[in-house]
Amino acid sequence: MIGVISLNQSSGRCVNFRIGNGTYQLLNDTNTSSIEDALIVSMDRKLNTLSHLKYPLDLEFIASIFGIDPNFRYVEMQQAGRLVPLEGKWYIEVNKHHQRVRQRFSIAHEIGHKAVMTSKHRIPKERMAYNPTHEKDEEEEMCDLFASFLLGLRPQHIISILDDRGFSLTTIDYLTSQLNVSFETATRALVRHAEIPVAILYCLPTLIANTERFYVQRYYPAAQFPLTFKGKSILPPFNCLTRAWLGNKAAKMLELWQIGRQDTYTCLLEAKRMPIYASETREDGLVVAVIIQE
Ligand SMILES: [Zn+2]
Repeated sequence: MIGVISLNQSSGRCVNFRIGNGTYQLLNDTNTSSIEDALIVSMDRKLNTLSHLKYPLDLEFIASIFGIDPNFRYVEMQQAGRLVPLEGKWYIEVNKHHQRVRQRFSIAHEIGHKAVMTSKHRIPKERMAYNPTHEKDEEEEMCDLFASFLLGLRPQHIISILDDRGFSLTTIDYLTSQLNVSFETATRALVRHAEIPVAILYCLPTLIANTERFYVQRYYPAAQFPLTFKGKSILPPFNCLTRAWLGNKAAKMLELWQIGRQDTYTCLLEAKRMPIYASETREDGLVVAVIIQE
């Protein structure tokens, strides 16, 4: 069964989430009405039995709490990670070539599979038609969310950081070192809870008429962000981007962004040159925070 639910009670924002059997079971088990709250409640049932938790969490220890062998196996594999049952025990295998922060996310994601499995397995399969594709997507989304919460990116924490520090690349950096998560994972969490029109753009350089310009490779917009980018959208020749690119460090500037003939936005741009992963290859690019001024 598929449906749409108001996901994010804690921050008041609605996010569409596809609802399948496993989700209904989880909502019932935890007596909550949103996936976020359900995951946090079920996670805390386990974690609250521990005397003190310090972030970044010791994932070996946490895995053992969820009934998984704490000796993770770092192996040659296509995927980022997988949960493997073997002779009555559970193991996590992780891609040995990934960066440490990415491996931590993969491990947290696999712990998520084990955590949601408990409720899923109690669902009588004959109750409704089983659709493996829907169930899979739903579980993957849920485990990503579980992973980000387990690593410490919880709504309350993110909202208080945004209140204290504001939205900026510096805030993302702060969160990455505080919780030992990747830049992109921290970005997703902050953008999700930002209540102003902001976005983080991952950009790569391209030569146009012998000039270095930048196109949007991917981006993470907050709900209020008014612009959308399709294909390889080339950004206007902002001074901020050139400065960050040539100066090899972060640049911050207020600039006008004109779209078509009508809309002109005043934007606070912050850009930083850093390596960007496009599928599995690493390229030199720019990460750009855009805050539209109102
Ligand atoms: Zn998964």
